Amino acid sequence: MKITHVTPGHYRIPLPRVLSDSTHGSIPAFEMVTVCVQTDAGIKGTGYTYTVGSGGSAITRLLADELAPLLCGCDPRCTEQTWRQMWRHLHYVGRGGLAGFAVSAVDIALWDIKAQAGGEPLWRLLGGASSRVPAYAGGVDLHFTTEELLAEMDDYLAQGFHALKIKVGHDDLKQDIERVAAVRRRIGPDVVLMLDANMRWRLDEALRAVKALRDFDPFWLEEPFEPDYEEAHATLAARGIPIATGENLHTIAEFQRMMDRGGVSFVQPDLTNAGGVTGWMKVAHAAECRNLPVSSHGAHDLHVHLLCAVANASYLEVHRFGLDRFLAAPLTLEDGCAVAPDRPGHGLQFKWDDLEAFRIASGDRSQA
Ligand SMILES: [Mg+2]
Repeated sequence: MKITHVTPGHYRIPLPRVLSDSTHGSIPAFEMVTVCVQTDAGIKGTGYTYTVGSGGSAITRLLADELAPLLCGCDPRCTEQTWRQMWRHLHYVGRGGLAGFAVSAVDIALWDIKAQAGGEPLWRLLGGASSRVPAYAGGVDLHFTTEELLAEMDDYLAQGFHALKIKVGHDDLKQDIERVAAVRRRIGPDVVLMLDANMRWRLDEALRAVKALRDFDPFWLEEPFEPDYEEAHATLAARGIPIATGENLHTIAEFQRMMDRGGVSFVQPDLTNAGGVTGWMKVAHAAECRNLPVSSHGAHDLHVHLLCAVANASYLEVHRFGLDRFLAAPLTLEDGCAVAPDRPGHGLQFKWDDLEAFRIASGDRSQA
C-alpha cells in the first residue's frame, strides 16, 4: 500500500460561548488543521490537530510543503518508519512545537488507514484493554460568574458525568477559593473534582493555593507551572497533591524527564501535539513502566481509542473544544464512561460540507 495524496485543511471554529483560562484569556474560537491521506488501495485516513487560536497556518504549510512530499510513496502502515522520517525531516526546526502538531495530524491519519486495512477499531488494534473509560467534563470557565459556573456543573451532572474540572488561577487567590468552595458544595463530596491552573503560578503562589484548596479534596491539580519547571512540579507533588500535566509537553523526552523527576502523578499527553497515536502510545507505555496512570487532553473522540487501548488509563477529558456538530457519530457516554466506537479505524466521519463555512485557507495538494 502506498500514500498517493496528503491534503491539509485549515479551519477556525467559533465556540458557542467565549471560554477562558488563566493563560490564554478569552477564547472565542479554536483552530483545527485537518489532513486527509489517500492511498493506492482506495483507503483514506483522516487526522487533525488544533490550536487555541494561533499557529494553524504555519502547521498547514508544514503539512503541505514538507510532510506531503516526504510521505507520498510511503507505506502508511509502517507507522514507526514514517514517524521517524517525519521527526528527522523537521528536527532542526522542530523537536516539538509546530512541527510536532503537523507530525501528529499525519500520524493519526496513518493509524486510521492501518486500522481500516485490518478491519479493526483503533482501540482494539492498539491493545484493547477495555471498551470504555471513565470520562470527566473539562470546563474552560475561569471568567464565568459563580452562577454561570454552578449552572455549568449542573449541566455536566445532568449529562451523566461523575467527574468535573474547573479552572483556577485568578489574580486574587480568594476568588479561586470561593469558586472551588461553591462548586464542591454544589456537587457534593462524591463527585470527582479536578482543578486546572493553566501554568499560572510560581512555586510560592502554588504552595499558598494548595494549602487553601486541598480542603476541597481535588483529585488532581493540573499545570500549576510552565512545563519547563520540572523541579517545582516535583516539590509540589512531594507536598502530597497529585499533579497532572502534559498538554504543553510535546516530545517523549520532555515527558520522560517530568516523570523521572517525580513532577507528575497523572500524565496527560495530547495526541494532536505529542506525536500522534505513535507518540501518545510511547508516552503511555513509558508511564506504565513507572506505575503512573495516563489521561488525555482535548480531542476526546480520538483519545477514547487510546485510553481504551492501554492498561494504565485514568480519566478521559471531554473537552469544550468539541467537534460534535461536525461529526456524524459523536462520542457516546454511558454512566459516566466514554464508549469506544466499534467502527474500523478511528471512525471519525467529518461533515465536511458543514465545516466548509469555517475554512480559512485552502490546503495545497501534493501528489505522488
Ligand atoms: Mg489543562
